[in-house]
Amino acid sequence: MHTTPLPNPPAGPAAPPVISVTGLRKSYDGRVVVDDLDLRVDAGEVVGLIGANGAGKTTTVECLQGLRRADAGAVRVLGLDPARDAERLRPLIGSQLQDSGLPDRLRVEEAVRLFAGPDAGDAEGLLERFGLAHRRRLHFGTMSGGERQRLFLVLALLNRPRLVILDELTQGLDPAARREVWRSVQQLRADGTTVLLVTHELEEAEALCDRVVLMQAGRVLDSGTPEQLVARHGGPVAVRFGLPAGRPARDLAVLRALPGVLDVERSGDRVAVHGRRSAIAHVGAWLVARGEIPEDLSVTSPDLEGALLALLDTPTPSKDAA
Ligand code: ATP
Repeated sequence: MHTTPLPNPPAGPAAPPVISVTGLRKSYDGRVVVDDLDLRVDAGEVVGLIGANGAGKTTTVECLQGLRRADAGAVRVLGLDPARDAERLRPLIGSQLQDSGLPDRLRVEEAVRLFAGPDAGDAEGLLERFGLAHRRRLHFGTMSGGERQRLFLVLALLNRPRLVILDELTQGLDPAARREVWRSVQQLRADGTTVLLVTHELEEAEALCDRVVLMQAGRVLDSGTPEQLVARHGGPVAVRFGLPAGRPARDLAVLRALPGVLDVERSGDRVAVHGRRSAIAHVGAWLVARGEIPEDLSVTSPDLEGALLALLDTPTPSKDAA
């Protein structure tokens, strides 16, 4: 039967990026800490900015918010130039305060009232969600690190911002609060809010981010989805299992020849097969075909942390180097 292919739908105008940075450069006392940086974040993306201490992440996000003036480069955030339009930009961005951002005597409920703009969302719901509803009378000065982080998140989300910038958002949080914060970021993504997340936690980046940008010494070292970065920099998968004692060594030659297998190690009756992803299915099929169903078969895949550790370990130039 002959069918006429449907025409492609007309391509709509591409939405402008929420963040667009080209050639950003920033020095402190003559030392370049952000060096010819390009960054693009599209509407609805959750992008993670990762890098070792001193890589220039905070300086970059400060330039995006108009808190620091770049030495060179073109920066647009929600179509505005942060250096010139910081006042107009402020209510559109939700960002975490630094620890010194609130007076010690300020209570949680007072901070919420102080920060709520004319378009503020459901403050009660946010306090509830971050476990602060029953802590509303607490003074900022007496709050624990985790409580402060949660308050900063409430304040960042209070005015339903179009862009949320979070710098090390789960630092100091206990595991339950951390999961709650992760769920909130996932909710933000589901709502279509654009999020730029500065983090040292690669597990966090892998769980939350559509894309990860890796900075080193003020430059972008690599970027991509967590899957792309793992595929680019991750090692092989490992399939481990036990063989019945006394299995002849020549069996391993067959394993080595399976598609996707790069290497086979045997230690006593333990076998470790390293290879590409496709090797997992072939090793499984090989075992089943031989009528052997090992009880302890395990598969270890490279994760973002494993994949990027070597890249991130590269030392940044010392303060005196430039
Ligand atoms: P971290 O992960 O430790 O927060 P980062 O990637 O956010 O680091 P930045 O805070 O942007 O890095 O700092 C980049 C470099 O600039 C660091 O070497 C830092 O010491 C230096 N720096 C940051 N702020 C200033 C400042 N106000 N004056 C001088 N140097 C600064």
